[in-house]
Amino acid sequence: MPGAGGFVPGADASTPPAPADPALPVAGRRIGTREDGTLLRVADLPAGTAWVPLGTLDGRPAWATEVPSTDQHAGRWRGWTGIAAELPEPLAALAGRAVAVVTWRRTHRWCGACRAALADVPGETSRRCPDCDLYVPMRLSAAVLTAITRPGPPGRPDELLLVRHAYGPTHLWALVAGFVEAGESLESAVRREVGEEVGLTVDGLRYFGSQPWALSGPGTLLVGFTARATDPRAEPVVDSTELTEARWFPLDALPAELPPAYSISRWLVDAAVTAAPT
Ligand SMILES: [Zn+2]
Repeated sequence: MPGAGGFVPGADASTPPAPADPALPVAGRRIGTREDGTLLRVADLPAGTAWVPLGTLDGRPAWATEVPSTDQHAGRWRGWTGIAAELPEPLAALAGRAVAVVTWRRTHRWCGACRAALADVPGETSRRCPDCDLYVPMRLSAAVLTAITRPGPPGRPDELLLVRHAYGPTHLWALVAGFVEAGESLESAVRREVGEEVGLTVDGLRYFGSQPWALSGPGTLLVGFTARATDPRAEPVVDSTELTEARWFPLDALPAELPPAYSISRWLVDAAVTAAPT
């Protein structure tokens, strides 16, 4: 949609890249930018670079290219979280799509049914098998996160359930979260994950918002919910394979080790604090 503001994902490569179009080289999980952290332009990379369409940024086509290593181009190379922590939102989403599309193209080159080389479908982020016609779109994984609260003691604020994971950033206090299974609604996934991870049941499930997340897999969509503990006296029981700790915290005394400011986990925590009566 030409002229649309912000970042609009797309796969239109019918017009060749222009020298001033935004350009995002990707090496593994790292994205190259200029030394000052701003986006490169198509003209900054060598002629003959193989570009992959990402969509439009403020109406201008944006492009990614896979490079074998970060030595290929001077400038700064950062993972998606480094970009997301520093650049404003439309650029974080664009950088996330660059990593997702490049990763997907690298990991979906052969037909899973007959082993032939897949061919790009023009205008789509998808491929098709020329031999058996298998259609291979880039799929998203959905994951749910839930901010669970319960009433605090008389005269005290509500309490928020926070957990620590056995893997990943283990020092952070995070929310109960997990991937949605095939055959499951988002709401069912929340109830299952809450049951599996901390042994609780929840009521009053409400949709909060969502965030594309580029850290794991070709593409993940995080979907945030708020909920109330069904039994306000129930204590979490940790499933020790995924979690090491789970605890209720009064909303006026949350730990310092919270998820980063650019994450929907943190937006959920901050919203719970803001919504709490003082
Ligand atoms: Zn095939």
